[in-house]
Amino acid sequence: MKVVLVGVGQAGGKVATALAEFDAEMGFDAVRGALAVNTAEADLRSLPIDTLLIGQSRVNGHGVGGDNELAASLMDEDATEVLDALSGRITAEAEAIFVVAGLGGGTGSGGAPVLVRELRRVHDVPVYALGVLPSREEGALYQVNAGRSLKTVVREADATLLVDNDAWRAADDSVGSGYDRINRKLARRVGLVLAAGEATGEDGRDVPESVVDTSEVIQTLRAGGIAAVGYASATAAPEAEENISAVMSTTRKAVMTGLSLPEATEADAALLVAAGEPDRIPRKGVERARRWLEEETGSAAVRGGDFPLSSDRIAAIVLLGGVERSARVETFLERAREAARETDELEQERSDPAAAFDNEDLDGLF
Ligand code: GDP
Repeated sequence: MKVVLVGVGQAGGKVATALAEFDAEMGFDAVRGALAVNTAEADLRSLPIDTLLIGQSRVNGHGVGGDNELAASLMDEDATEVLDALSGRITAEAEAIFVVAGLGGGTGSGGAPVLVRELRRVHDVPVYALGVLPSREEGALYQVNAGRSLKTVVREADATLLVDNDAWRAADDSVGSGYDRINRKLARRVGLVLAAGEATGEDGRDVPESVVDTSEVIQTLRAGGIAAVGYASATAAPEAEENISAVMSTTRKAVMTGLSLPEATEADAALLVAAGEPDRIPRKGVERARRWLEEETGSAAVRGGDFPLSSDRIAAIVLLGGVERSARVETFLERAREAARETDELEQERSDPAAAFDNEDLDGLF
C-alpha cells in the first residue's frame, strides 16, 4: 500500500520518522511521503523528515502544553496550510493517508482528529489514523485527553489503528526511556502491514496469487472503527512442510501476546500475512492458521496472503479490523472516564476548597 504519513505532535513526528526509516532500510518504498506537523518548534528540529510549524500566530512555536482543545482549534485555523504542504506529496499513486499521533498529549491529541476530517474532505483515498494510547502509568490528563481524542478520531477516520504504549514495552523499560524501542517495534509491525501489498514478483515475473494485495489490507480496515496489529516470528526450516507448526504458533503468538492492543481479539475482519521465503511458506500451515484466526476472532471475513521476503525467518503479521467491542478498549475508556471524573472533582475542589471534605467521615469542629 503506497502511503503518505503525517505525524502530528511529538509522538506523531517520531513514529512517522521511524516508519519512514524502516521502510527505506527495507527498500519497500511503501512510504511515499512523510511530514511532521507540530505547534512546538523544538519538537520538529531534530526530525529528519519534512516539517511544518502551525499555530505560530497564537502560540509562537511554544506548543500547547497538554491543551488538546487549543491544538484542535489551531489545526482548524491552519488546516489549509497543512493541506497545501501535503498536496504535492499526496499524488495519484497514493493509496492511503495515515495521520499518526500520540492521543494522550496536546498537539497530536487535538490536531490529529481535525486533520483527519480535513483530509477526508479533499482526498478520495482512505484516511486512517495511527494512534498511540498512553501507558496506564501516565497521569489522568493523558488518559482523559486520549479518551476524548479517540472518541473523535474513530468517528472521523476510515479506521483507527491503535497501539497501546503498554503493549510492546519490555518489562524493564520505563515510560519514556523505552520510546525508541517501542517506536522501532511499531515501525516494523505497521511497516510490514503497509509494505505487504507492495511485493512484486521476482525479476518482474507475475506476482503469485497467494501474495497479499493492498486491497486486502484496505478491505480488512473497511469495517472502520478500531484496528490492531499483531506480529511474531520464528526461525524457518528450509522446507515448507517443516514449517507448518511454525506458521501456526507464530500466528497464535501474534494474536495472544503480540497485539498492539492486547486482548483485543474479537474482530469484524482479519488479515493474516505470512512473511518469509516463498518456498518456505507452507500452504497447509497458512490455511490452518487462517481457520484458527476465524475461530479466535469470531470473524467470517478472514483474509490471508504471503509476503515474499528474503529471510531465514518466517513471520506472522495479523491485522484485525473492527475490534472496538473488545474488553481492552472498554478498559481503556473506563480508565479515561474515571480520570475525567477525578479531574472534574479536582477542579471543583479548586474552586470550592470546602468541597474536598464533602466525602470525608470527619465532622467539623463547629
Ligand atoms: P504532543 O506533542 O502535544 O502531541 O504530545 P506527545 O506526542 O508527547 O504525546 C504524549 C503521548 O504520547 C503520551 O501518552 C506519551 O506516552 C506518548 N509518546 C510521546 N512520545 C512518544 C514516542 O516517541 N513513542 C510512543 N510510542 N509514544 C510516545
